[in-house]
Amino acid sequence: MGLRLAQRALNFLKADVAGAMPDYELRNPQIDMMESCSKTIEEGGALMAEAGTGTGKTFAYLIPLILSGKKGIVSTRTINLQGQLASKDLNFLSELVPFSYTIAKGRGNYLCLRRLNAFRAENDKEADEYTDLVNWASQTETGDAEDYKLKKPLIWKDIYSEADACRGKKCSYYNQCFYFKARQRWGKAQIVVANHALIGINAMLSEDSKILPKADVLVIDEGHALDNALSEQIGINLSKRGFENILNKLLKPDERGNYKGLLSKSQNLFSVVESLRTEMELFWDVVKRELEHRKTIKGTFALANFSSALSFSIRSLIEDIRTSTMGLFKEDEELEIKASIIKLKTYADGLETLSEGMDGFVRWPEIEEKRIALRMSPIYPRDFIRENIIPEYNSVIVTSATLSVSGDFGFTEKILGLEDSKKLSVPSPFDLRNQVAMEIKKGINLLNGEGIERLAGVIIDEASKKDGGILTLFTSRDVMKKTWELTAEKLRNLGLNPMIQGEMPSRTMLDIMREGKDSVLFGLDSFWEGVDVKGDSLKCLIITKLPFEVPTEPIVLARTEDIEKNGGNPFYEYSLPRAVLKFKQGFGRLIRLKTDKGRIIICDERIKTKAYGKRFLESVLQDKKGV
Ligand code: SF4
Repeated sequence: MGLRLAQRALNFLKADVAGAMPDYELRNPQIDMMESCSKTIEEGGALMAEAGTGTGKTFAYLIPLILSGKKGIVSTRTINLQGQLASKDLNFLSELVPFSYTIAKGRGNYLCLRRLNAFRAENDKEADEYTDLVNWASQTETGDAEDYKLKKPLIWKDIYSEADACRGKKCSYYNQCFYFKARQRWGKAQIVVANHALIGINAMLSEDSKILPKADVLVIDEGHALDNALSEQIGINLSKRGFENILNKLLKPDERGNYKGLLSKSQNLFSVVESLRTEMELFWDVVKRELEHRKTIKGTFALANFSSALSFSIRSLIEDIRTSTMGLFKEDEELEIKASIIKLKTYADGLETLSEGMDGFVRWPEIEEKRIALRMSPIYPRDFIRENIIPEYNSVIVTSATLSVSGDFGFTEKILGLEDSKKLSVPSPFDLRNQVAMEIKKGINLLNGEGIERLAGVIIDEASKKDGGILTLFTSRDVMKKTWELTAEKLRNLGLNPMIQGEMPSRTMLDIMREGKDSVLFGLDSFWEGVDVKGDSLKCLIITKLPFEVPTEPIVLARTEDIEKNGGNPFYEYSLPRAVLKFKQGFGRLIRLKTDKGRIIICDERIKTKAYGKRFLESVLQDKKGV
């Protein structure tokens, strides 16, 4: 009998990986995780594997997966991270052992050649973009928008690949089709790198319309982000803008009131579409007026009658389009009309489902300055994961640096429906006791101006030490802006480079930070995770407040109500563990290497004064008692 997978993986790590990386050191946490992953891949089942920063968790699951020869889908949080996984880790390993891998993205990322060919520009800007894209289409191998330019062109909305507007094998471009060629690559490769949103979309599709290939193993990396990613994908999202886009595609009035859309040849439909437009405008006005101050929609939907009248009007428009456009249009146009009909139908279905509501789902209005929408999502994604994701694979590994609160997976396993999975938590191999100096600042209450002034003072004090970059993590945009106003100029006068989230793309700000030692970066939510800046470029981390979620967010509200209804304590069962996990993510930004040393300044005294505060400290510095 051949060697067990775990042994083969260990041999590979010791000989091949260590041989190719002169400064590689064997780490017990990595070996432990690799052994558990090997077992899960070999024997099947589900594993939740938490690995502290610096463990090398990517190799711990990739090596046994590759050596097993089984087909695997590895999912991560963002398209960016997919790129990193492929260009760094998979590329490195593929030089040591032969295997194939590829990246899979959502369909909308690929150019549709049929649509490109049928596109008619309506102004000079569109014409320029079109010419450029035709040129690119003749050269690109992938047709992936990311390979075109940093920014998607404005006409991308008219030329991307879309299931509803695709004739598949009957399309005359099928043999050159970028999307179907990508699907073939996904089918052939041993390892397919996907993202959580795509995993969610794929799981919602019926067996014969799945986009991702069948695989034995699913690895969810950045597993802590799966909950939010699935909540975004599953459910209903009806926006005012979304409906306007459908109608504009059908009629698209220009400045002179001439219709340029798909139905521009069907004069008898102009008034029907316009009257639906008016009805819809009115509906959203009423939504705004009636629901502006509602966090969630409970019980009978107050606009149920309006909503069902609207869905009736949409359905009758569909009938009108079907009867009056038959035989009138060319094949390309007919396909686009069919796609619009599917969208109209989905919208009408959504209005009805949202109006009725569903057990286990939460409904809420999203009313912002530029966006108005009605949403419905499952309170927890657990049933969806249990029913639609887990059964698709023999082995499922969910991994992240933050899945447990001091080794207790209870919180995450309940949300993700992974109660029956095996669990493993391996610590960070870093010597945090010697690498991190922690300080807790007292008397900073960010609810008042004085507290914000004190916080600004802390930032200036730390920056004045001029020993490296500073990342300041906020939980409130308002507090971040006010602190920025009090500090930016002073920081510049100190010869430093202050940057605030939103002033340029986050990636650019992080690149700038990596290059020097003088950046002082102010960041919100997304900077609490995924920031990887090593050495003196990130020397000091300032946590302005313990990251408790806003209890008015609809899903948070629904979850806390659900816990209360079942006799539980929402603070201890939900808010606290969620905040601890986020704190752990933030904390993990500072030490990225064995040689890194740095300071963490926590500006929220509750971590010391409240009984629950020790849960935060224990979770990040298990070996650093009495801080
Ligand atoms: S096969 Fe579908 S996606 Fe591909 S070019 Fe044709 S219509 Fe577009």
